[in-house]
Amino acid sequence: MKKFTFVALLIFGFYSCTSNNKQRGITDQTLIHADEDPGSWLTYGLNYSETRFSKLDQVTDQNAKDLGLAWYFEMGAERGVEATPLVSNGIMYVTGPWSVLYALDAKTGQKLWEYDPQVPKAYGEKACCDVVNRGAALYQDKVYVASLDGRLIALNAKNGSKVWETLTVDQSIPYTITGAPRVIKGKVIIGNGGAEYGVRGYISAYDAESGKQVWRFYSVPGNPDLPFESKALEEAAKTWTGKYWEAGGGGTMWDAMAYDPDLNLMYVGTGNGSPWNRKHRSPDGGDNLYLSSIVALNPDNGEYVWHYQTTPGDNWDYTATQHLILADLPINGEERKVIMQAPKNGFFYVIDRTNGEFISGETFVPINWASHIDYATGRPVENPTAAYNDMPYEAVPGPFGAHSWHPMSFNPQTGLVYIPAQNMSVFMLHDPKYKFNDPKETMALGSGNGMNFGVLLAGGEKAFPNFGKLLAWDPVKQEKVWEVEHFAPANGGVITTAGNLVFQGTSDGRFVAYNAQNGEKLWESPLGTGVIAAPITYELDGIQYITVAAGWGGVTGLSESFSGTQTTGKVYTFKLGGTEALPEFPKKKSNPRLSGVTYQIDSEADVILGTKHYINYCMICHGYPAAGQGGRIPNLGYSQTEVIQNLEAYVLNRALASKGMPDFTGRLTESDVEKIKAFIQITADTSPQ
Ligand code: CA
Repeated sequence: MKKFTFVALLIFGFYSCTSNNKQRGITDQTLIHADEDPGSWLTYGLNYSETRFSKLDQVTDQNAKDLGLAWYFEMGAERGVEATPLVSNGIMYVTGPWSVLYALDAKTGQKLWEYDPQVPKAYGEKACCDVVNRGAALYQDKVYVASLDGRLIALNAKNGSKVWETLTVDQSIPYTITGAPRVIKGKVIIGNGGAEYGVRGYISAYDAESGKQVWRFYSVPGNPDLPFESKALEEAAKTWTGKYWEAGGGGTMWDAMAYDPDLNLMYVGTGNGSPWNRKHRSPDGGDNLYLSSIVALNPDNGEYVWHYQTTPGDNWDYTATQHLILADLPINGEERKVIMQAPKNGFFYVIDRTNGEFISGETFVPINWASHIDYATGRPVENPTAAYNDMPYEAVPGPFGAHSWHPMSFNPQTGLVYIPAQNMSVFMLHDPKYKFNDPKETMALGSGNGMNFGVLLAGGEKAFPNFGKLLAWDPVKQEKVWEVEHFAPANGGVITTAGNLVFQGTSDGRFVAYNAQNGEKLWESPLGTGVIAAPITYELDGIQYITVAAGWGGVTGLSESFSGTQTTGKVYTFKLGGTEALPEFPKKKSNPRLSGVTYQIDSEADVILGTKHYINYCMICHGYPAAGQGGRIPNLGYSQTEVIQNLEAYVLNRALASKGMPDFTGRLTESDVEKIKAFIQITADTSPQ
């Protein structure tokens, strides 16, 4: 029987699903036909086209109201959960904070094993956006996970024993990995992040069996005094000015990939410029290739084939690392092979994936940095005031984007793309004192932690209110078909199914099913914490399951203030008629305002210095004191008196090292810490209640 299954797998590229744990190797053909196997979810986006459309149709728009909990798994995680789980051979592989991989029985949620790569907690400081991980990859008999500190690790998929581990980054430079690897033709492909910290982006391929590096593609040119790694980078260097290589340039490829086996092209989205502010990055202008671009590569050798740049001369952290989806669409009566993206900059793009030709691009939410795309050139027409200089400019979208990494999905039955869209506009202002890796003069957020924006984040009266929406978008007509307004921005990724359904979790802690055609809400369940990850679905023993990993991270406490509850990261799985009870969701407790901290300062001017240190070193994680209760990382305006009274212990003496609190020795002195204490207590005393 085992032998037959293996042969069938080779011949047909799929196999019938049973619930036993027989180990079956995942081949190139299995991955090419990944969405034909109902028992599995084998790769991050369900298939190489990354459509996240499941053909399962047991759960439908008619019966979704009967969904109930089948099981839940307690990660115990206190930071953000962004993973898309994978399912193969009845085992679910899901990652949590600090790149920990859990293997669960997909029918019961029982933990089979766990792999913790033991990321040093001090490394967490280098992660701009929490110590998250978006998932694993499967190939042959192995499961692959990349760790926050830049290692790519191959494990035996059955028992979690380590097969190999390869370091993919120079750990002395603030590279991080939060993305899910993909496997193409026996190579495990992974990029990295760090464009907020002054790194040079690249993506690499490793042999799936041995872990040896096969190729590497850099998205931006290095020092032109050294040989260029490729002709493509020699060309790119002509679009940069000044000493761009000193601050890395950015362009990190930290999330989106897709692959077309017929064209033998893989696609990757590149990130923002480093620093954000182009006046500092490339002072005499230029498009700064290949920032904020969709790039097509030959997966055999990593060679550049074509690119389309969404935001030439990026100035606003407008990454194009967002979800890439491949589809064949009827465009003006002709079937076109397209690639679709809704990057941070607010345009929905349809691009010819054979050659990178621009087909169409329209705004999916209101924006103000560009008026439109010139269809003759495929370039955006920038609003002149968007190049912030002496006046704070309300960037719409702001650096959080009109859509971030939260996966979309494309349903070929409705012809619609479902987009977790949002607005969180931010006032940006040129920082004339910016110098690479030098926080002394500037008061830029996070500069003492190595963040290199070149931008001061200013305050102002917002003309564009925050929102979060689920948008159903017709990519052919480039128009909205329906939308659901959420309570707040930063909602979860989505899937869509042949049951005419769309599933999405929300930042206010709910998991919801919608009618894919018209957006009607059909069912919802509370999950106790905000959801940012995307769901999956799979079928075992004739039962369709729907799973989502939930866990709101870090800083803001937004989720808790919306849901009123605060709970650790969990994996929830639902089925029709499920009768498991949801766990208890503890009410978010409200702490009293900080009081009674004493501090030693010499003058009022020291409070100003304390403010500067706080903005440079503390605010990126702890927020502004007394502006909200905070999330998993506390707001210091609501700390217990003795915590702030003994601030040196945490800032300089590693008392909270195990939680990921950085060591600021060498960056801050004891006298600096006194000034920070003064700022926190005075702000807590004087902020409106
Ligand atoms: Ca960024």
